[in-house]
Amino acid sequence: MALPNKPKGELKAVRDPEVVEKEVDVLIVGGGMAACGTAFEMKKWLGDDQTVLLCDKAAMERSGAVAQGLSAINTYIGDNSPEDYVRMVRNDLMGLVREDLIFDLGCYVDDSVHLFEEWGLPVWKKTDDGKNLDGKKGQKMGTLKGGATPVRTGKWQIMINGESYKRIVAEAAKKALGEDNILERVFIVELLLDANVENQIAGAVGFSVRENKVYIIKCKTMMVACGGAVNIYQPRSVGEGKGRAWYPVWNAGSTYTMCMKVGAELTMMENRFTPARFKDGYGPVGAWFLLFKAKALNGLGENYAAGDAAKAELERFAPYGTAAITPTCLRNHLMLFEMKEGRGPIMMDTVTALATLGETMDKKELKHLESEAWEDFLDMTCGQANLWCAQDCEPEKKNSEIMPTEPYLLGSHSGCCGLWASGPDYDWVPESYKIKARNGKVYKQMTTVEGLFTSGDGVGGSGHKFSSGSHAEGRIAAKQMVRFAKDFADFTPTLAQSKDELVDMIYKPVRTFLDNCEYTTAIDINPNYIKPEGMMYRLMKATHEYGAGTATYYMTSSKSLEVVMDLLQTMREDCEKMAAGDLHELMRAWEIEHRIWTVEAHLRHIQYRKETRYPGFYYQADYPGQDDENWFCFVNSKFDPKAKQWDVFKKDYVKIIAD
Ligand code: FAD
Repeated sequence: MALPNKPKGELKAVRDPEVVEKEVDVLIVGGGMAACGTAFEMKKWLGDDQTVLLCDKAAMERSGAVAQGLSAINTYIGDNSPEDYVRMVRNDLMGLVREDLIFDLGCYVDDSVHLFEEWGLPVWKKTDDGKNLDGKKGQKMGTLKGGATPVRTGKWQIMINGESYKRIVAEAAKKALGEDNILERVFIVELLLDANVENQIAGAVGFSVRENKVYIIKCKTMMVACGGAVNIYQPRSVGEGKGRAWYPVWNAGSTYTMCMKVGAELTMMENRFTPARFKDGYGPVGAWFLLFKAKALNGLGENYAAGDAAKAELERFAPYGTAAITPTCLRNHLMLFEMKEGRGPIMMDTVTALATLGETMDKKELKHLESEAWEDFLDMTCGQANLWCAQDCEPEKKNSEIMPTEPYLLGSHSGCCGLWASGPDYDWVPESYKIKARNGKVYKQMTTVEGLFTSGDGVGGSGHKFSSGSHAEGRIAAKQMVRFAKDFADFTPTLAQSKDELVDMIYKPVRTFLDNCEYTTAIDINPNYIKPEGMMYRLMKATHEYGAGTATYYMTSSKSLEVVMDLLQTMREDCEKMAAGDLHELMRAWEIEHRIWTVEAHLRHIQYRKETRYPGFYYQADYPGQDDENWFCFVNSKFDPKAKQWDVFKKDYVKIIAD
């Protein structure tokens, strides 16, 4: 039923939108964890005469990967050392990471966690008797800063009551930046280079997804933190489940696409993440494995990961496979091996785990524990709790299936694709990791385009930052951007494109629709255009079948990559004919464009790297196994915006922290 005084359906797009032009010193694109960190920190450093604007495509209180809330903060250094943090990330990502960035972040990340707690996020603490599972969660027994011991699920993770995590973080960000400096529901589509200064960022253009308005924003410096990419592959959930994915719907590869299109260098785009999660609901497994100590069983009821065959398989990937903690991709690899051998499905043995824990508990404590198991889902993936209800699943009585998902691209969780960003300007940081601006200075987290910064999922080669690390990186970028804007105070951003050219570009799908929609009676079927939904199916089918999707157990080959590259080329040409009848479709049209570019970068990198570095995430059939002799290096790429050509190349990896 339509709400009173509200039109039914989406707001129709008009041919000529209103145009809003703005100019600021600093532009923040995105409103997720990283951008909230930047927003919080910004005003502390910004001069009175400097201006700032933040644009989020959605509403900051519930946008990005933390929208639904989380039940754990996965990076809290605490009593550990930043060196150890580097070692953990390096091993999980099969040896190739930017140790400078990771170490540096390890020195700062806890401060963000302390702030979250100060702002009201309940962090579980150990009770006086040191117990974990019956810890009076949410009941403050001193703050982390004051020395209270958090309940850890693993060496790096701490438990929270985090359903409102994003709201808490967004509230602090908004308050610090000021609502007048924030535009919500504005989707940034393209970045703009300066007309006079070579390789310098000068602005961005986007549109409101709620009003017929195009925004043209000029700036001296900018951070793009629009998360990673979802829905680039056919999700496992189809039909009634369509739209359900592990990764948040907002993040359509905008970070990578927008930055690469202005010539920013990418790194490790071949890396991806296919998390093993509870099947169909995509519920988290971390608490089950780490806190409740559950085991995964194959279809024969065997703890396959502990068997001799698994051990032998992991030895093939030494030293990563034989490390105390098996890398995420190799855990998937073992699971896929069982499934391919016909020993699936893989089940999380929730029954035994809860029964074992219950042996040392009374009835009340056990009940409390069971409710924690439910709350783990309710805090961050309530759909999984719904699914358990719908399937009559009581975890203490019935085991649940787990399965690796469709591939996602991201740089802050257990993946490391992203932009090549500058390391800090310390003596111990290799020169090849520093990016110098035209004044000879190094600005941490600046990309290879001057004045263009990134954070969170945007920074490549440095996964395992998670929510806290992304926030901390955003804060670091804030300071660096203010420094840049001050150092280049006399730079006046000048756009090469006219206002009309930019509006024509953004609203092209709307005009294509209006010009042709009366040609047929069925609005979605027209020889003169394609709707974004149709393009989405084309993209997903192509990547699913040829680009190492779930259809082939994540296997691709040189020939398949050739085929999918060809299909992507045609799709990019056909995108010119995309049509949008309303603002929602206009958003979908630009999202699919961003996805196509992002997934093309991903597959170009896979094509270039002639080995299989991440078994369990993807396999290159013509180059199985790791080849450290030839490929123990980063793979970087760059799209030249003038020549419209790609270049993919090797970049040296430098080991900084000893084993
Ligand atoms: P996000 O927080 O995802 O923010 C991206 C922002 O960009 C959003 O505001 C979005 O609206 C905006 N945006 C996108 N495109 C555009 C555009 N074109 N124009 C304008 N705005 C745009 N971390 C933990 O610590 N513990 C956990 O338990 C945990 N679980 C996770 C579970 C899931 C399912 C996922 C996906 C992540 C999880 N993480 C967890 C990781 C954590 O959520 C991320 O590391 C973090 O959110 C990354 O921050 P970000 O700012 O880079 O991206």
